[in-house]
Amino acid sequence: MIQDIEPKRLANEYSGKTPGKGSRLMAFQENQILVKKGETADFVPYEMLQAWCTRCGAKLPDMVYLFSVGETKYFLTDLPEKFLLWLTENAFLESESVPGYEWISMFEMRSRRPKEQIFAVATAWHLYVWYRDNRFCGRCGQTLVHSEKLRMLKCPDCGNMVFPKIAPAVIVGVTNGERILMTKYAGRAYKRYALIAGFTEIGETAEQTVAREVMEETGVRVKNIRYYKSQPWGFDSNLLLGYFCELDGDDTIHMDTEELSVAEWVDYRDIPDDTEGLSLTREMMIYFRDSRRKLHEEM
Ligand SMILES: [Zn+2]
Repeated sequence: MIQDIEPKRLANEYSGKTPGKGSRLMAFQENQILVKKGETADFVPYEMLQAWCTRCGAKLPDMVYLFSVGETKYFLTDLPEKFLLWLTENAFLESESVPGYEWISMFEMRSRRPKEQIFAVATAWHLYVWYRDNRFCGRCGQTLVHSEKLRMLKCPDCGNMVFPKIAPAVIVGVTNGERILMTKYAGRAYKRYALIAGFTEIGETAEQTVAREVMEETGVRVKNIRYYKSQPWGFDSNLLLGYFCELDGDDTIHMDTEELSVAEWVDYRDIPDDTEGLSLTREMMIYFRDSRRKLHEEM
């Protein structure tokens, strides 16, 4: 899964670290990230911006420390417009060759590697969205300031404390003997099979979300709800909670056509391999397939 980057680790302890040589800058606009051209996921080095600022007499922009992966520290920043132009056009330097940079969508980033960089960019995106959408106090309208000790924004006037927003959602593998309930979303870029999924509402447990979402999307009842694993999914500001459960009673599907374009029982032998290796959804499908296979081999 996206977070499985051992022996590396994404160290997310908050601190007021300052950027230095080797630090990487995460710059977003709309749903895109600035990345070096090519197949990999290389972000703008701090020293490149620093050298450019020195040369042009420009002021370094503000930078917020995000996290570290190994020795590399990551910072969120709004890069100056002229610097972006220089980066993308490869201009300005007489002797050195400067790699070109491009804006690519967060969805396209999923196909780049190495995986720890994809996890880093998804996590940076989650933090970026939170900072972007929490500039002012929702209670009194004052500009929020960053706490020196915590990943928290606080209001200097009324004392309101704003913590990172993480939306819990469930992923559900509903099994029915040799088959598992698979779906495809209606009207989304992601066209492959998915499992039932949905956000936890205020006032319910994750297990209640499981039963409610399965009923809403497919009209079937479930039993024996069991927790599997969780996954941070920064692309959508989620914490995903994976559950398996079993069909309880009638297997007739009444699909919610607003949400889904396909909902069907799929035999474990028809579940394709996971070539991406990022999502909890895919891992759960493979887990079901492989545990069924093993069961048959043992019989
Ligand atoms: Zn306030």
